[in-house]
Amino acid sequence: MKRVALFPGSFDPFTKGHEDIVLRGLKLFDEIIISIGYNSGKSQRYFPIETMITKIRETFKSYPQIRVETYAELTASYAQKNGAKYLLRGLRNTTDFEYENSIAQVNRHLNNELESVFLITSPQFASISSSIIREVHRYRGDVSDFLPYTI
Ligand code: ADP
Repeated sequence: MKRVALFPGSFDPFTKGHEDIVLRGLKLFDEIIISIGYNSGKSQRYFPIETMITKIRETFKSYPQIRVETYAELTASYAQKNGAKYLLRGLRNTTDFEYENSIAQVNRHLNNELESVFLITSPQFASISSSIIREVHRYRGDVSDFLPYTI
């Protein structure tokens, strides 16, 4: 049986911290589906979804076992439909832990087959957050050091 993991998130934008989690996840899983949670009806994204899909695909173009998709439904049901038994997530600090702990409990309640797997961030990426990158970019700061592609 292939071990398929979903790496769900907003990825607004996808950062070097996210890239690190995916690459390390490849040691654990046969296939990783980077799943951008997206609700077309009430999109409040900063970076357009199409741009992010293209950039992430470009980042992992040499990895056939990595796919990039969008979804607009419960993560637990989306995982089930895609035959994914694992949710891959990253942990930077205790704030992440508190949040991840709650959603992992809910996700497993919704889909009993689903295990959340957490990787502790690599120290060089621990301070990277999508929200800070959005702020820097909004005021025309240079964010290129934080992203695995050029924007
Ligand atoms: P969400 O909106 O679901 O929190 P994000 O795109 O912010 O989605 O993050 C997706 C996952 O990546 C989360 O598990 C988050 O904790 C993790 N993550 C975010 N930034 C980093 C980072 N710099 N290093 C490791 N993991 C990270």
